[in-house]
Amino acid sequence: MDILYRNTRGIGEPIKASQAILKGLAEGGGLYVPTVFPKLDKSVKELAEMDYRGVAYEVMKLFFTDYTEEELRGCIARAYDDKFDTEEIAPLVEADHAYYMELFHGKTIAFKDMALSILPHLMTTAAKKNNQTDEIVILTATSGDTGKAALAGFADVPGTRIIVFYPKNGVSRVQELQMVTEKGKNTTVIGVLGNFDDCQTGVKKMFTDETLKDDMAKRGMTFSSANSINIGRLVPQVAYYVFAYTRLLKEERIKDGEPINFVVPTGNFGNILACYYAKKLGLPVAKMICASNENKVLYDFFETGTYDMRRKFILTSSPSMDILISSNLERLIYHSAGNDAAKNAELMNQLKTDGVYQITGAMKQEMADFVPGFASETDTAEEIRMLYERTGYVIDTHTAVASSVYRSYREKSGDITPTVIVSTASPFKFARSVMSAVRGAEDKRDDFEIIDDLAKTANVSEPPAIREIRTAPVKHNTVCEIADMQKEVRGVLGICKTEE
Ligand SMILES: *Cc1c(COP(=O)(O)O)cnc(C)c1O
Repeated sequence: MDILYRNTRGIGEPIKASQAILKGLAEGGGLYVPTVFPKLDKSVKELAEMDYRGVAYEVMKLFFTDYTEEELRGCIARAYDDKFDTEEIAPLVEADHAYYMELFHGKTIAFKDMALSILPHLMTTAAKKNNQTDEIVILTATSGDTGKAALAGFADVPGTRIIVFYPKNGVSRVQELQMVTEKGKNTTVIGVLGNFDDCQTGVKKMFTDETLKDDMAKRGMTFSSANSINIGRLVPQVAYYVFAYTRLLKEERIKDGEPINFVVPTGNFGNILACYYAKKLGLPVAKMICASNENKVLYDFFETGTYDMRRKFILTSSPSMDILISSNLERLIYHSAGNDAAKNAELMNQLKTDGVYQITGAMKQEMADFVPGFASETDTAEEIRMLYERTGYVIDTHTAVASSVYRSYREKSGDITPTVIVSTASPFKFARSVMSAVRGAEDKRDDFEIIDDLAKTANVSEPPAIREIRTAPVKHNTVCEIADMQKEVRGVLGICKTEE
């Protein structure tokens, strides 16, 4: 049976998976969702005999039904290969009554690699299937992390090009070095003299600029987005939830069918939504614990049923979770309303006009397996230090938010269900905050000195991603004004502006 994808705002007819992956965002600002949820067609016991790629195939084939087995296995093989620094791809580490699922063994040492290493292959395969011969041009604005993960994913993938804009003075030194040393021949990285919002607005303008799109079409090029709302990013994330379960089963940490909890450090709600999709597949998931930092809009939402973004934006030590509009929550809203696109559209319009909406009691009931929690900056630092002192295991700030939320949850609820904490970044990526927490004082040393100290403290060698940027030559040094972003894109793509 083909699984089709429908717009959460109800506009247009349902389309195939490959078409939804090419389009990314649906019309009217909606997102694509499966019209029905498939079920796992192999037992967790059978899946436990497979490696990561095998499990990933068994999950993705259920959602991407218009891809052939050969196509899908091909995409998976090209994504989850020796780009990862461990064969397990997503290893589990036990520490202090929980299992940490390390999703940071890819190219950029953060969990976005899990999806962005396969998305380019899903996209180029989708283009072929749909007889789209245009070159795919990815435009991305980044506040630091997504940019490098997207660059690494699309680097040297035939039929694609990628252009990344970042705020020139708004990312960490390590983040900037990761991007500007990117070697892929089809990649461009440009620093913008503005903040992240300026980059984002500039990119959005280009996506909707009809003249630019026409000029590109004449040259056989078309824009696409690697945004986290693409179903081609969401579905690959479902795989590691199933994988984690099968590893615990294989190692006899749990019995067949025994429910487990997941704790997810949450920003845009993509990662935890993938957990919900895994549960819908039939995976025995008990609680989905949604961990927020001080930007706790999701905590308040799950507590009260009211989503209210009218509040101050707080900069924290877990920047990838500093978000007030969690885009992927829209999918949960839609499903919890009984797949009601009209109801969802009504709420999303309220969010747009008033900055707030309230769900019904019945919808809230549907979300009962989500348990919200949040950690302050102090809680987060305290968690890193405490876990290190108890076990020697060092976690990053995002993971620490989840770990702290889990600690309070466990103490308050007495729930001793086996629990997996989703570890979304390597501590090396946020070494300054991590070492400040471990030492209990602000660390003022040079980034690389701190990294050396972290390697000694955690007793792990620095990941290849860090080793490389110490010596890699800078390949990209373009800096532009906000107003010149389009000019830069035209330059890179070789499309001159004819009018003016
Ligand atoms: C993006 C990101 C998150 C948040 O994930 P969402 O899918 O946006 O909820 C958490 N931690 C890290 C390190 C990230 O990069």
